[in-house]
Amino acid sequence: MKLILLGAPGAGKGTVAKLLTKMDGSVQISTGDILRGAVAAGSELGKKAESAMKAGDLVSDDLIMGIMSERLKEDDCKSGYLLDGFPRTIPQAEALKVMLTEMGEKLDAVVDIAVPRDVILDRLTTRRTCTDCGEIYNVKSNPPKVEGKCDKCGGPVVQRDDETTEAISNRLDVYNEKTAPVAGFYEKEGMLLTVEATSSDAVIEAIKAKLGN
Ligand code: AMP
Repeated sequence: MKLILLGAPGAGKGTVAKLLTKMDGSVQISTGDILRGAVAAGSELGKKAESAMKAGDLVSDDLIMGIMSERLKEDDCKSGYLLDGFPRTIPQAEALKVMLTEMGEKLDAVVDIAVPRDVILDRLTTRRTCTDCGEIYNVKSNPPKVEGKCDKCGGPVVQRDDETTEAISNRLDVYNEKTAPVAGFYEKEGMLLTVEATSSDAVIEAIKAKLGN
């Protein structure tokens, strides 16, 4: 399947994407994961993105479109992809539309995961992430078996730099200002499925119902 997953930080896009990849071999493409990898590697891309990311601001549209124009052409995208954290601005959505038309590809749906703000805040402050494989944990509801160590790969499980109270609050403001309108863009295109659900299983069920499987 070819889906865009929209929703505020902490809405569960990454968790839903990981579950969906297991269903049909689609690949999860998270611009946030790509950028964190670049920052960890100290590459040119990482250097350009680092300060905006740490503050919870968006990285420039040009940088993101540069990444995605390459990424969507890779071989593993042939079996489908789940775009997690992209597009995040109207110009990115417009550029993606042009890119997909040029590639002769069509998305199956754009899923907006709508979760109440208090749930989001609680999730983001208690979320922990493996810096090696990106697996997501939660100190309250889903801690790793050994504290600070990833169950899957043994990597370090930590709180992200942009999950301080200040950065979280900025990320939510940026989301409301720049990313929430992206849902309206896809509504006009007739592609939007809004799912109000706090459990990833319920989101998956709604997506399956929409795609008819
Ligand atoms: P995420 O893991 O999706 O929350 O992304 C972490 C951070 O990476 C964001 O707060 C932004 O600074 C940056 N980022 C990720 N995806 C994008 C995007 N599509 N456009 C601009 N910045 C992005």
